[in-house]
Amino acid sequence: MGINVAYLADEVIEKGAEALLAEYARVRGVSIDGSIPIDDIIEKHLKLGMEFDDTHRLFGVSRSGNGLDPDVLGAIFFDQKLIVIDESLDPHTYPAKEGRYRYTAAHEVGHWQLHRTLFSKNPAQTSLLETSAPPSFICRTSQAKERIEIQADLYASCLLMPRGAIRKHWAQSFGTDKPLVFDAVRSQPFVNRPRSFGLRPISEILAELDPSPDYLFNKIAGDFARHFIVSTKAMRIRLERLGLLLACAPDQHTLPFGV
Ligand SMILES: [Zn+2]
Repeated sequence: MGINVAYLADEVIEKGAEALLAEYARVRGVSIDGSIPIDDIIEKHLKLGMEFDDTHRLFGVSRSGNGLDPDVLGAIFFDQKLIVIDESLDPHTYPAKEGRYRYTAAHEVGHWQLHRTLFSKNPAQTSLLETSAPPSFICRTSQAKERIEIQADLYASCLLMPRGAIRKHWAQSFGTDKPLVFDAVRSQPFVNRPRSFGLRPISEILAELDPSPDYLFNKIAGDFARHFIVSTKAMRIRLERLGLLLACAPDQHTLPFGV
């Protein structure tokens, strides 16, 4: 949609997502662990409506690729306080899409938290857009590279996969908060084994299969993805961004958790 938004540091976006989680946990008297209750956060805490619809018909947008892949996964109507998710992601009909559904919903929360003032009809609150700005924002996969979409994606990632919860699960799974370095586990037994590999050292599995970092990282990301109910792809991106999955030994100065 060509919407210009101001640069926001990643840390600012992450702190925003963490603040929302902390507020939700405090108000509801719950602790945040494992899969984030995104539906509750949207409907009970933020008091936003959520519906499934055929977004392509709704917005008159064609599907991408072979005409079957959804281009519009979600949209938000700021004035109506309504999130619309494409029906192809309805987890009741398509349970395998639950991870993508949750990410899309969290992405729309990102727009609500970060960008809604840009779309306000109230001139006093309108800074970058004209007062006739549309009250809705449609998220298109084909525009995923735009800054406004990248910001909402990062927000979704931080909301569904909070740094603290990921680190805690990592420590429980591996017995350490150190990153997994592919080159290192290849050459020596890795004493702390992901549960998905049972009781066998990773080095044995590697010796048998000689997998690529891709194989091992996707196995680990898949294991974590099931715990947090997100897609393997989203989890892998998050684990790599947190510096927990590394292909080779990192520069000591850039280690993420002071390891
Ligand atoms: Zn979006």
